[in-house]
Amino acid sequence: MAQRSDIVVIGGGIIGLAVARRLCLAGNAVTVLERHRTGRGASWAAAGMLAPHCEFDEPDPYFELCRTGLARYAGFIETLREETGCPIEYNAAGAMLPALSDRGQAQLETRYERHRCDGVPVERLNVREARRLEPNLTNGIRMALRYPDDHQVENRDVVTALAQSVQRGGGVIREGVAARKILLEGHRVSGVDTSEGIWKAHTVVNAMGCRARYLDGIAPTDRIPVRPVRGQILALKAGTAPPFHHTIYTSGAYLVPRSDGRLIIGATVEETGFRDEVTLGGVMQLFRDALELAPGLKSWALDSTWSGLRPVTRDGWPVLGATGTPGLFAATGHGRNGILLAPLTGDLLAETILHDRVPSIMRPFLPDRFYPARDGETSDERDR
Ligand SMILES: Cc1cc2nc3c(=O)[nH]c(=O)nc-3n(C[C@H](O)[C@H](O)[C@H](O)COP(=O)(O)OP(=O)(O)OC[C@H]3O[C@@H](n4cnc5c(N)ncnc54)[C@H](O)[C@@H]3O)c2cc1C
Repeated sequence: MAQRSDIVVIGGGIIGLAVARRLCLAGNAVTVLERHRTGRGASWAAAGMLAPHCEFDEPDPYFELCRTGLARYAGFIETLREETGCPIEYNAAGAMLPALSDRGQAQLETRYERHRCDGVPVERLNVREARRLEPNLTNGIRMALRYPDDHQVENRDVVTALAQSVQRGGGVIREGVAARKILLEGHRVSGVDTSEGIWKAHTVVNAMGCRARYLDGIAPTDRIPVRPVRGQILALKAGTAPPFHHTIYTSGAYLVPRSDGRLIIGATVEETGFRDEVTLGGVMQLFRDALELAPGLKSWALDSTWSGLRPVTRDGWPVLGATGTPGLFAATGHGRNGILLAPLTGDLLAETILHDRVPSIMRPFLPDRFYPARDGETSDERDR
């Protein structure tokens, strides 16, 4: 016999869980279907940086989305801790971008002026100031920028707490269930065909991460153009305290200190399809970049290595909102910023699904930007 739920969320990563939590809090019967283990995809592999000011050079709607996501994060973590009693490591020390060459310095000076003019909180540090704050940085740096508002979180704590929150809110999480096909009555969603049978539901959310395009039963134009982009990471272990307070960020590598004394070094960006292994070349690149930033790291113990597959769309922006199939919604394609954007994605999808409203900040990210114009239709007509 078919199982039944108001809403089915496919994918138990941080995005699916954040959406499911908001829908549960509003009193809906929600089921999360996860083909493997909850939260063990890209959301487990991430470094947990909440760092839009480091990630983006120029303002655009994606930068604004990320800044809005950041502004809500500390409050979200506080609420999630209260709701679940789960510990969630959160570090608000800020991020530092050091320049290691003349060219790097020139780029950071330009960036500093631009961000200052745009009202982004940013500090320019000379070598002495930067090394006073972070004595373990190489003495080869030329200057640094500090972004006090960029934070970081232990993403594994967040997915664990989100799963608890969903279950406390009456949601059901079914692990080991793979969604295969959307079922329709007429043109509208009526459920999902899965490896464990049929789930009836009037609303389905595709939060399948880098596999989001592999959902049958819908028009080919409704398939979300997402691909996997591999990121490899390694962690060092020094002892009780990490060697940095800030996240240290460059275009090559970033160093993220954790309170248990580990230092996360990430991450490669590789087009390797669904191959998610850790390679010698990837690890060597991370070591090289990390040692350039902090030569003292060479005597540290290697703790672990891992990798994950980021969900990345054709234009690099997330896909959020109603698809062309009534009742089917998309929440994926968050690329390098899915940890940062999870709480905001939950809020935006809940607004759309429950109140049929599209918040203005979400408009540039609607799935219909990928639809081909129908015969005789102009892009202006589609935008209305
Ligand atoms: C190395 C690395 C470092 C990163 N660092 C950061 C960072 O510092 N800050 C940041 O904000 N972001 C970071 N990211 C990006 C972030 O991790 C992702 O954007 C985010 O985790 C995406 O979440 P998701 O829920 O969409 O995907 P996932 O976590 O991959 O979850 C998708 C889930 O869907 C399930 N699924 C797929 N198909 C099916 C199916 N047919 N049926 C049922 N279930 C299915 C999968 O098993 C998976 O569990 C990083 C990513 C990587 C790889």
